[in-house]
Amino acid sequence: MLIDNHKRTINYLRLAVTDRCNLRCNYCMPAEGISFVQNKKLLTIDELKKISQVLVGQGVSKIRITGGEPFVRKDLIDLLRYLQKLEGLDDISITTNATLIGPYIDELKKLGIKNINVSLDAIDRSTFEKITRRNQYDTVHENLIRLITEGFNVRINFIVLEGQNEQDIIPILELMKNYPVSVRFLEEMPFNGGSKSFEKITWDYKVILTHITKHFSNFKKLDSPETSTSINYKIEGHKGTFGLIPSFSRTFCGSCNRLRITATGDIITCLYGKPKANLRDIVRNKNSKNGIENAILKVVGSRAKTGFDAQKEHGGVFENSMTSIGG
Ligand code: SAM
Repeated sequence: MLIDNHKRTINYLRLAVTDRCNLRCNYCMPAEGISFVQNKKLLTIDELKKISQVLVGQGVSKIRITGGEPFVRKDLIDLLRYLQKLEGLDDISITTNATLIGPYIDELKKLGIKNINVSLDAIDRSTFEKITRRNQYDTVHENLIRLITEGFNVRINFIVLEGQNEQDIIPILELMKNYPVSVRFLEEMPFNGGSKSFEKITWDYKVILTHITKHFSNFKKLDSPETSTSINYKIEGHKGTFGLIPSFSRTFCGSCNRLRITATGDIITCLYGKPKANLRDIVRNKNSKNGIENAILKVVGSRAKTGFDAQKEHGGVFENSMTSIGG
């Protein structure tokens, strides 16, 4: 079992399979994209399998596949088929923008992969296109409805962006009233690849809740697992739930159970900190198992206590984009 230097058990891996994305969300990267890494610097599917196997052996029981956009990677299904058979791995989840998932839905179902987080920051077409800088509104909505109706556990991640999509907060809750979906509102974070300056946020989780309270008075707080990053609620008469994720306020660090591995093999022990080691050369060596295990043990043994502590490693300036960190 992996236990960090603050006695937190680490059993959740967020595994980025690429840094590429087919959208250009303006809060994530500049219009021209970021300088995506060369292919040879990305972990291969076999390397991703190997790393996953070692981490599951060390006690990881949940892996979330992320990126970049995971389905940009044509060989993703090969990795998923492998993970599905990995003993000790109880939960495989995917975070996606839902543009490319369509052709894979049947196979995901067959594999029993049911937990899909869809990133969707607008229900209005022009707001969606302005934020994503791409024309994918219909595809995303079709795939989202298909995932829901085919019985996947769908959670919608909606980043609240000042001056861009606040007006869609209530409509998305109205729209999802009849669907068994969790809509989670996240605070914007400073990982935008230098596309804009980032000082503070207006829409923190308390402001979002106050806004929702003005429109829906009848809701109750739900119990959530200890390691949950969202504070969850149910509005009376709604099939689904909604949640607030204080991703900038960072109220949940005390129970953080996660590690991130980027598509280039960097190990990140806190989203707000710098990479702590790199696994690519290690996994490319013969007999890499011990090397991976030791690298993981070392970084887990020196984790920052909170995201505010980790942030000091950057000296206050973030230049990275969530597409390369693996959001
Ligand atoms: N392409 C996939 C997707 O869109 O879900 C996975 C990768 S994406 C980088 C993961 C998540 O990070 C998305 O939900 C996205 O909205 C979120 N994200 C990206 N930049 C962010 C930022 N600056 N602040 C908060 N969340 C951000």
